[in-house]
Amino acid sequence: MHQDTIIALATAQGIGAISVIRLSGKQAIKAVNQVFHGKDLEKQPTHTLHFGTIRDGNEIIDEVVVSLFVEPKSFTGENVVEISCHGSPYIVKRVLQLFINQGVRLAKAGEFTQRAFLNGKFDLAQAEAVADLIAADSEAAHRAAMYQMRGGFSQKIKELREKLIHFASLIELELDFGEEDVEFADREDLRVLVKEILAVIQALIQSFSLGNVIKNGVPTVIAGKPNAGKSTLLNALLNEERAIVSEIAGTTRDVIEDEIVIEGMVFRFIDTAGLRETEDKIEKIGVQRSYEKIKSASLLLYVFDLTEIKTPQDYEQELADAQYFGIPYIMVGNKVEYASDMVWSTLSSYPEVELISAKNKEGLENLKQHILKIVQGENFSTGDTFITNARHYESLLQTKNALDNVLAGLNRGVTGDFLAMDIRQALYHLGEITGQITTDDLLANIFSKFCIGK
Ligand code: GDP
Repeated sequence: MHQDTIIALATAQGIGAISVIRLSGKQAIKAVNQVFHGKDLEKQPTHTLHFGTIRDGNEIIDEVVVSLFVEPKSFTGENVVEISCHGSPYIVKRVLQLFINQGVRLAKAGEFTQRAFLNGKFDLAQAEAVADLIAADSEAAHRAAMYQMRGGFSQKIKELREKLIHFASLIELELDFGEEDVEFADREDLRVLVKEILAVIQALIQSFSLGNVIKNGVPTVIAGKPNAGKSTLLNALLNEERAIVSEIAGTTRDVIEDEIVIEGMVFRFIDTAGLRETEDKIEKIGVQRSYEKIKSASLLLYVFDLTEIKTPQDYEQELADAQYFGIPYIMVGNKVEYASDMVWSTLSSYPEVELISAKNKEGLENLKQHILKIVQGENFSTGDTFITNARHYESLLQTKNALDNVLAGLNRGVTGDFLAMDIRQALYHLGEITGQITTDDLLANIFSKFCIGK
């Protein structure tokens, strides 16, 4: 438990109806009692609300409602008091000052959550999810963070670790018997377990790109020949004029990123320079950058001008250009209001084409639904565990490495001490994710299961 008591404004800075100031620490309730006029807070039960005034000497600074959380039943596990005062920056400043004068310290960024972790309220992955939850600006990102905060992801990691710890214990036990050449840990069982764990870890590792997409948006590009209507489409989707629209071919030179939200999923749009061979130097750079951007995107909206489609070959050529990038794509035929009968008959055998008029904002709703369908079909399995955190990703990669080494060791028939080393590595990296300390776990497990009597 920490000695010092910390304080911070819990709500956003600035004027509002109410501001909440939060204190946490051994002295939190006592400190508030010093300046609060109302009931004696130190005699009140946990989870109660109290109306009163905050005073600086005889001066009333504000009328407030105080929420009490007596340790250990609080967010941080310590005594916590939340003071709801009027949402004035001046009042907030005065109240903070009163407490600082008493020796209460201003909290560092994330310190309440850090204390909650240190006091065992939740593990590291859950603590990190708190930050994600606050930052979540879409339904999908919120769902992912909420799932992680409630321990869904941690639970999976914990289960894997426990299975591995069991094997590590058995192998460490063998080592204790030294020369006696005993095998407590069945190598075949270990191989099966490691493979099982690898499969789960593999899936989690792969889920990172989806997790990342949910957190940061699906990188989507709009590409196609100059004048196909890419900028107009982007503008129509964004519903405001952002990229420069021009009748001169090749004037959309730079990449512009913007976002739209379709049913809770964020799509981060990257508008790119027209794709064509060019001699113009500036444009060449733009085109080069476009190719790179498109290849790293998750979805391509390939826009083509319907009035340019005279034969099935014309369409096949556009299709080939779209497929060139090797990422999921949607063919978007633009300027539908000018489409001739010839275009209709040519395209009738290609039902996958979305027909739109970017200019008249026609067909956009169908296009959006198509976008959702592609992304969900690609890799979207909601409800599954997936990771969104780069630190977890890194640890999972390290775990995988260590487990690959265990498998290789088993194949070569290495001795227990080598196996134990790699298993310890794997446990360590898995433990990094949730913040557990591996060696302690390992020892505790050995001693709780076996009475070696040494
Ligand atoms: P980009 O080079 O692919 O970005 O194409 P732009 O968006 O700059 O559009 C090129 C020209 O086509 C502009 O004059 C637009 O007004 C026009 N345009 C774009 N979409 C449509 C459409 O749906 N119908 C018609 N008739 N014109 C369009």
